[in-house]
Amino acid sequence: MIRQDLNRIDSKRRTGLDHRKKQFATPTYQNLDYQHRLNFYVTPPTADITLEQFEQWAIDRLRVLAEIEACSFRNKTIAETAAHMKPLLDKYLPLGSSTSGSTTLQAERQKDHYSHFILRLAFASTEDLRRRFSRVESTLFRIRFQADNLKERQQFVEGLNLDWETVSDDERREYSEELRAAGGGYPLRIEEENYFKVDWERVPELVENRRVFLKAGKAYVPGREQLSMVVAEFTSRLDKALEMTSRALPRLDEDDRLTPILTHLSQNFTTPDAHYSSSATSLPGADISARNVDTLSSSFPLCMQNLHRSLRRDAHLKHFGRLQYTLFLKGIGLNLEECLIFWRSSFSKITDDVFNKEYRYNVRHTYGDVGGDSNRRGGGYSPFSCQKILTEHPPGPGEAHGCPYRHFSVDNLTSLLQAVGVKDNEVLRGVKEDKEKMKYHLACNRVFDYVHKQEIKKVKDDGTWTANQLETLVHPNEYFKRSYLLKNMGKNPTEEEKPDVQMEG
Ligand code: SF4
Repeated sequence: MIRQDLNRIDSKRRTGLDHRKKQFATPTYQNLDYQHRLNFYVTPPTADITLEQFEQWAIDRLRVLAEIEACSFRNKTIAETAAHMKPLLDKYLPLGSSTSGSTTLQAERQKDHYSHFILRLAFASTEDLRRRFSRVESTLFRIRFQADNLKERQQFVEGLNLDWETVSDDERREYSEELRAAGGGYPLRIEEENYFKVDWERVPELVENRRVFLKAGKAYVPGREQLSMVVAEFTSRLDKALEMTSRALPRLDEDDRLTPILTHLSQNFTTPDAHYSSSATSLPGADISARNVDTLSSSFPLCMQNLHRSLRRDAHLKHFGRLQYTLFLKGIGLNLEECLIFWRSSFSKITDDVFNKEYRYNVRHTYGDVGGDSNRRGGGYSPFSCQKILTEHPPGPGEAHGCPYRHFSVDNLTSLLQAVGVKDNEVLRGVKEDKEKMKYHLACNRVFDYVHKQEIKKVKDDGTWTANQLETLVHPNEYFKRSYLLKNMGKNPTEEEKPDVQMEG
C-alpha cells in the first residue's frame, strides 16, 4: 500500500527489510475503480502511495473527524453538524457525485478510502478509541448519505447486497392496516411507501420503538427508515472490522515507518482540542495575580474549584493536580512569576528549600521556561480541555484532579456542588441525570447556566451576546473567561477576548 519513500529509508535498512515488509515495498496491485461516492470500506486499499500521502491524507481526515466529535460535544443536531461540516469537508475531504463530471472524482474517492483505513489502523488499539472512531465515522457516513444524489444513493445501497427483500405490491396491500398502524397512521395511502423485509434482529431499535410491523421473524421496514438501517449496518460492520484490526496490530509494530505516524495520529485524536492559545485569553483590566486567585476562583469550573479547595485544605496537591491546575492558571493569564508565588505561598507547610528543590522546576517547565527546545519554543504545555480531563489519568485515592462530574460519586458531587453554592434541587437532579447518562460536560454547562442565570438573561435581553457566544462550553478556560466576563463586565467579548480553543493540526 505504501510506496517506499527513498528519502526516509536508507539503503542499509532497505536491504534488511524482511518478507513482511517487502509486501509494502513491492507494489503488486492496481488502483481500485470507485463506482460510488459512498463507501462501506469493505476492501482494504492495496495500491501504492507515498509516506507523505499516507500522513497528509490521514491528518486531513482527522481534522474532519475531530470537528465532528466537537459538534457532538456541543450537542449539535445532525442537521447543524452537517451545515457546520460542509466547508471543512469541501476543503479536506471533498467527494463529488458521479454525475458532477469532475475530473478529480477517482482521486477524491481514493483519498477518502485510504484515509479511512489509515485511521482505522491508528484508532484500533484501545476500546475507547475504537468506540469514538466508530461513532464519528458513522456520523460522517450519515451526513454524506443524506447529502447524496437520490439515484446514486439507491445504486449504492443496491450494490451493498444487504439481503433486504422488497415487499411485493400484493403483500403490501394484504398487510396495509398493520403497516400503517406500525407507522402511526402513515402513509395515508399504502402505495406511497416502499417496504423491505429483514430479520428483525437487524433493526432492534425500530422493533423496540414499535416502528415496524413484525411477521414470521421478519420486520417490514418502510423506505423512510432506510437511512437508519444503512447507518446501523455501516456501524456494525465497522465495529467488527475494528476488532479484527486491533488483533492484527501487533504485527504492524515491526514496521518502523508506520508506527510513529500512527501513534502520533492517535495521540492527536486523544486530545482533539488540546491546543489552547493562551495569547487569546487576556482579560483587559482583570487582576490576574497570585493574591487574587481566591477571588477569581468563584468563576472557576467545578474541576478547578475542587483543586483550589483541596489545595487550601491540605496546603498540597499531588502531581497531576498541580499540572492540571498550573496549566489552567497559565491559561487564565497568570504569568510565571505570579504562578511561582501562588504555589510557594499555597504550599505553606514546606520550607523554601524543599519548594525550590521539588516544585519550582516543574512549574517553570510547564510554562516552557525550562526543558527541551520544542517545549521552550512552544511556550510549554497547553491547558487541558474537558475532553482530556475527562478521559485521561483518572484520579486515584488522595488525588484531586479530573472532572468531579465524572470522577465523583453522586453523593460527593452533590455535596461539592452544595458547598460551592448550587443548592437548587432541580439543578442537582438534572446534574444527577446528566451524570447517569455520562453527559458530564452537559452537567457542567447546566451548572454554568444556573450560576449565571441573571447575567445570561441580561446579555440575551440586551442583545449584546449572540447565541454562538453562549454555546456549549468544552474547555475549563473557556468556562472561566465567559464567567468572568459575564460577572464583571456583562459585555460582549471582542474577537481577541473570546476564548480560542482549536484542534491541533
Ligand atoms: Fe471541568 Fe470540563 Fe468537567 Fe466542567 S466538564 S468540571 S470544565 S473538566
